[in-house]
Amino acid sequence: MVRRAWPSAVLALAVVVATVHAADGPDSVYLNARVWTGNAAQPAATAFAIRGDRFVAVGSDDAVRRLATTDTLIIDLDGRRVVPGFIDAHWHLPSRRSARLDAAGSVAVIQQRLLDYARDLPADSWVVGRGWMPNDFPGRVADKRYLDEIFPDRPVVIRDRDGHQALANSRALELAGVDRDTPDPDDGRIVRDAGGAPTGLLQEAAAALVTGKLPGLSAEDTYQLLLAEVTTAASYGLTSLQDATDVGLTEHERRAVERAQAEGKLPVRYRASVPLDENVTAQQLAGYVAMREATRGQLLYYGFAKAILDGTIDAGTAYMLEPFVGGGNGQPMMSQAALNRTVAAYDKAGLQVALHTIGDGAIRMGLDAYEHAARVNGPRDRRHRLEHVEVPALADLPRMHKLGVIASTQPIGATPDATTLENYAPLIGPARAALAYSPRIFDDAGVVQAFGSDYPVYTMDPIAGIYAVVTRQTRDGKPAGGWYPANRISVEAALRHYTRDAAYSSFEEDLKGTIAAGKYADFAILSRDLLAATPAQLLETRVLATFMGGRETFRSPEFQADGP
Ligand SMILES: [Zn+2]
Repeated sequence: MVRRAWPSAVLALAVVVATVHAADGPDSVYLNARVWTGNAAQPAATAFAIRGDRFVAVGSDDAVRRLATTDTLIIDLDGRRVVPGFIDAHWHLPSRRSARLDAAGSVAVIQQRLLDYARDLPADSWVVGRGWMPNDFPGRVADKRYLDEIFPDRPVVIRDRDGHQALANSRALELAGVDRDTPDPDDGRIVRDAGGAPTGLLQEAAAALVTGKLPGLSAEDTYQLLLAEVTTAASYGLTSLQDATDVGLTEHERRAVERAQAEGKLPVRYRASVPLDENVTAQQLAGYVAMREATRGQLLYYGFAKAILDGTIDAGTAYMLEPFVGGGNGQPMMSQAALNRTVAAYDKAGLQVALHTIGDGAIRMGLDAYEHAARVNGPRDRRHRLEHVEVPALADLPRMHKLGVIASTQPIGATPDATTLENYAPLIGPARAALAYSPRIFDDAGVVQAFGSDYPVYTMDPIAGIYAVVTRQTRDGKPAGGWYPANRISVEAALRHYTRDAAYSSFEEDLKGTIAAGKYADFAILSRDLLAATPAQLLETRVLATFMGGRETFRSPEFQADGP
């Protein structure tokens, strides 16, 4: 960051302005930038001014420079690209630290990473991991024996990438009391061998039989975990997160976010969810609304209710209109009648609803419930959301548009990695794969689309997500031309979904998501011009600095290097 001295003529002018308008002068002005504002009325600018936590002017260098007083900090951005702060519309605070098993590719790699991770833990503590996929295992069958081989006496449980199934070793099953006599829980399955003994694979709600036995984190552990995660978020240019957990924040998590806010250590606007529960009481609903009103305008705030309606494609638990290739189908976790009743109750209370729906069957059920709510409760700006909405039936998109339902999608999911090509796509077959993870079909249908990462399922790096939807290739450029390349979108469209549209998804488009006078001064300075970058350059683009409400929340060491 370069702070240039003022030419004396300009200084003199600034002093004059200052004597007249000292009280109104901006705290800082940024000049000589390439600003993508996201604001249709003024798409591009080279300068902006900030006062307090807001942008107060956006325009040309000359026009903005004129506003400076002697007290104004002047920053020359040397032609850098500036974008509105990224907003992750679907993010999760991880519940604990764990070994990362992403893109392992083989049992040997999973075993090695677990051994490496366990080395630093107390000898008798649980070993927890996450990020494996079925294709990491021989025959795509995860089995406890691979964990027993390396940890015969110590409990181990590892979550798959999507968090919809877990693999436990024999010791973990034993500690959890899961054996051949344990019945499957509602909404879950204990996978068994031919003799009826658990194989260690626990799908959907069955995973909690073991993960529920994990020792809890202390309040301090949770606080440190939160700080680490939100610091990472700021380093990726994120200024807002929507935590889409279906159970809402735990007591420890809520206190951790409140503490970070009180101590001035929260570098993001943190929108938390409440559970969408079919047994909700009128009193609970009133409490949720009161919480939303009480926290309006704070960094930690509430406003949406989340539920999970089906599973995932990779686990074969998504609810499809037609079965998976080779048979089998997921089951919705609520009946249509219960869903309609529940959504209508939250809707009547004025709460926004977000439903995890991945299969076209679940997506249709969600739309039916939203349509029902609109019918019984009358017209209103409701902006209910479908989360993931990976494999919709094309016939449902016009209805989604008409109902004003938001597609809350994960761009990084369009990455055609081994899991996508060898497990995901074959399970749904080519006709449905051609529509899967396609931001394009929502844009074409006029559906508002908010981008998110689903972290910790995927990286929370928005630029990685943008690369995925712009190229539909892996990071090493495969396949040539991209996976279903007709589904690609432009960098600009992707940016819009990560900023303005994501702000719209939380009813905050008047507050943030664009660089415009009156909005929160949330922005990121980039190392390259994202909008003029080749795919390879996109991958090299990094965030140099992030500001939330005018406050610097991240600065990269390389940017520090050419600072004052
Ligand atoms: Zn999620």
